[in-house]
Amino acid sequence: MELRTEIVVLGAGAAGLAAARVLSQAGVPAVVLEARERIGGRLFTREDVGLPVPVELGGEFIHGTAPVSFALLRAAHRVALDVTGESFTYENGALHIDDEDRFDVVARVMRRACGLTDDVSAETFLRELGDGPDVERERLLARLFIQGFDAADPHRASARALAEEWNGGEDGQTARTFRPLGGYGHLLRTLHGTLDPERVQVRLATEAHVLRRHAGGVVVDATTAGGTPVHVRARAAIVTLPVGVLSAGGLHFEPPLPPEKQDALAHILTGPVVKLVLQFRTAFWERLDGERYRDAGFFLRPEAAFPTFWTLLPQRTPLLMAWAGGPKAAALANHDQTALVATALDDLATLFGDATEPRDELEAAFVHDWQRDPYARGAYSYLATGGTGAREKLAAPVDDVLFFAGEATSPTAEAGTAAGALQSGERAAREALDACRLGLGAG
Ligand SMILES: Cc1cc2nc3c(=O)[nH]c(=O)nc-3n(C[C@H](O)[C@H](O)[C@H](O)COP(=O)(O)OP(=O)(O)OC[C@H]3O[C@@H](n4cnc5c(N)ncnc54)[C@H](O)[C@@H]3O)c2cc1C
Repeated sequence: MELRTEIVVLGAGAAGLAAARVLSQAGVPAVVLEARERIGGRLFTREDVGLPVPVELGGEFIHGTAPVSFALLRAAHRVALDVTGESFTYENGALHIDDEDRFDVVARVMRRACGLTDDVSAETFLRELGDGPDVERERLLARLFIQGFDAADPHRASARALAEEWNGGEDGQTARTFRPLGGYGHLLRTLHGTLDPERVQVRLATEAHVLRRHAGGVVVDATTAGGTPVHVRARAAIVTLPVGVLSAGGLHFEPPLPPEKQDALAHILTGPVVKLVLQFRTAFWERLDGERYRDAGFFLRPEAAFPTFWTLLPQRTPLLMAWAGGPKAAALANHDQTALVATALDDLATLFGDATEPRDELEAAFVHDWQRDPYARGAYSYLATGGTGAREKLAAPVDDVLFFAGEATSPTAEAGTAAGALQSGERAAREALDACRLGLGAG
């Protein structure tokens, strides 16, 4: 099948759909190629009958001010809920309510890396913080969040980049957190629905293999799930594939990408995450210990296989999310779903000092293996030591025909997130329109 269009977009995740929306609004013909049979990429909402609310197997929260995410919510006539609930940490054999926001503590620790003249790994930075019981507690907590929240290996992650991310002003990690009511699935369907079908085609189950660029544009070779070859000729391409896919050679570029891009890719790593959704008959934890955890949002036990569990407060549901990121997720790599559930139930038994309730109350579990998923190859990106500037280098256009978007290309404060992906898609689409002098009213 031969297709001709102005701009070909690779990937229909948040970045690809946001780019397509800008092209559609500009009245520019575009073809979006998506390997999966669904839109959304690493945003993956399960809305099965029997689930009390839509459940996110991938991205779930909106972090900070996220202007593009909130603008889309408004356009979709939807709202976001503030993430609420008390946080408990397991120490010395029991759960204790946290007296200080854990995000504030980690931001305070990481702030000290802002002044580093030479970049070092997060682990080296944390080790050099000094001694004493308070420093040791801060170090443990910072390690937990670098692994859990950033999905990063502290031995490989850039201390400087983490300092920037955790202290990025209003958008820093101490800012508030929300969930889109009804899940990201609804938001993405709205985004998809805004595309003008006369101009923008989204072709699902169509995997791109080769991207050839020449002076006048690009040719993309792809194959449908049914084995039909598809060739798309366009003036420009917007590549939104995850860096894990690009680094693994999931798309062959002819000629190869310039050395600065290869260098950027070498410094942007993708962290693993295991997120397990546990559906219980009732929210049993709300009844335990004289209803002490009735308003619990988060449970932390840094040494556990799943160091973090959270509830969906302010929505009261019988669901708990079990989360492991970075090296903790890598350690679970060979666990199938049954083994993951058994591990999570053991961790809950330790947290609550009660092995029976979690086991007896369990109804269902949901998980997606992002590490083995060939179209994701991990959860989200972080910068390796010495990687300052790599995201900007990856985002830069090549020869005014190749444009790059996706969470890994967004500025540090929003990198790794759905908000960053959406923002980057809009940015890349505008760059492509400008370079090709396309769009309504353009000369
Ligand atoms: C478990 C988990 C939890 C997360 N939690 C949060 C959170 O709470 N908040 C938050 O903001 N972010 C979170 N994230 C990150 C967030 O989901 C991502 O940053 C964001 O969705 C990335 O969007 P993207 O468009 O850059 O990439 P993707 O969504 O990965 O889109 C890229 C698209 O390209 C497609 N593709 C790949 N290869 C090919 C090919 N060869 N041909 C054609 N198409 C191809 C993929 O199928 C995919 O649809 C989480 C991610 C995971 C995995």
